[in-house]
Amino acid sequence: MSTASPRDRRLDLRMLGVDEALQAVLAAVAPLPSEEIALEDSPGRCLADAMVSSLDAPPFDRTAMDGYALRAADAAAPPAELEVVETIAAGRDPRATIGPGQAAKIMTGAAIPRGADAIVMVERTEPLDGGRRVRILDRAEPGQHIRRRGEDLAGGSLLLPAGAFVGAPEIALLASEGRSRLRVGSLPSVTVISTGDELVPVGETPTGSCIRETNSWSLLALLRRMGIDPVRPGIAKDDPAALDALIARALGSDVLLLTGGVSMGDFDLVGAALGRAGCRPIFERVAIQPGKPLFFGLVEGRARRVVVFGLPGNPISSIVDFLVFARPALRLMMGALQPVDPAVSVELLDPIRRRPGRRAYLPARVAVTGAGRLAARPLPSMGSADLVALSRANALVIVHETAGDVAAGAELPALLLDDPFRR
Ligand code: AMP
Ligand code: MG
Repeated sequence: MSTASPRDRRLDLRMLGVDEALQAVLAAVAPLPSEEIALEDSPGRCLADAMVSSLDAPPFDRTAMDGYALRAADAAAPPAELEVVETIAAGRDPRATIGPGQAAKIMTGAAIPRGADAIVMVERTEPLDGGRRVRILDRAEPGQHIRRRGEDLAGGSLLLPAGAFVGAPEIALLASEGRSRLRVGSLPSVTVISTGDELVPVGETPTGSCIRETNSWSLLALLRRMGIDPVRPGIAKDDPAALDALIARALGSDVLLLTGGVSMGDFDLVGAALGRAGCRPIFERVAIQPGKPLFFGLVEGRARRVVVFGLPGNPISSIVDFLVFARPALRLMMGALQPVDPAVSVELLDPIRRRPGRRAYLPARVAVTGAGRLAARPLPSMGSADLVALSRANALVIVHETAGDVAAGAELPALLLDDPFRR
């Protein structure tokens, strides 16, 4: 029988590196079952199935220019004067066959009429005789400005892989294929619980050493950006019974995000409460700065597995841990092909002073330099509670755990913050 107290057990859990912790998170979660939805509800979702084209693209031979469709042989020695037999708008099937000495006026996207094998753009022509004839000023090569059926993509080609995120080009491809309904990964249900005796809700005025609760609001913003509307049952006091009650209610969700109460203070009761709820801890600390006290575990419920993140109470730490660990997990649950944000490479404009040990995520402003490369200026920060610095940042510059001071001019990875207007 173990005689270790809960606190001792917690110390036994290793502090994982960021990569190791992220791997552990991604290994512990799985895509949720897919659901069928309307096309209009698909932006921000991930395709459950690969999409294969049913049509050739383009679907018929068509012109890439406004101009005249003609037989190239008739314009081999310009200028040439041709009879205009028809005007073909996009979407209207050509009627005439183009014979020798003839042309059809044609608009971008319209089908090439029979007999024609080249397009001369309208800028290189002159109408004659009120439009009944045309003078062609340029030599025409066979095939010029004609987009052949299937030349971009043959029918039966892969348009989008399973797990593709639906944005503007993706929804346009879905529409082009007539998918008014489609299967996507389901959105995880998420409960957000803030913990702390000192926290008061936004509608109340804090007295004494109390403060207004803010983490559930930053998490709300981050989750809404993913299309997820979390349940927020309120603030839990640092009291075992209060925590137990709110956690029990949250176990009907796919994901539980707690903030606060996961570090080593006397009133950090979240780990123990999760233990009572049957949560199996996978890790409790990560070598990341900010964001070291991060609990991650699973509750194997009767109906579902609940994924639990105990995020740090510090407002910046909870945002960083959400971006680095929770968001990839949620995206994986949504069926995303690429749940982890790729880092970009930036040139550091100011030196960074630090001790090695933890991987740092530093608020910074990234801009494109004259040379067309990305350069980052870290924002002066007052530490792990500095929401103001983060509100001015458009990226988090990443300093590897083994690195100490970093000189200006060094190349570092950075995570771009992708909220609109944060550019
Ligand atoms: P904890 O992790 O509970 O020790 O909290 C660390 C720091 O973050 C403390 O200064 C808390 O007051 C603060 N904090 C914790 N939770 C929140 C919250 N939901 N909103 C704002 N600040 C918080
Ligand atoms: Mg607390």
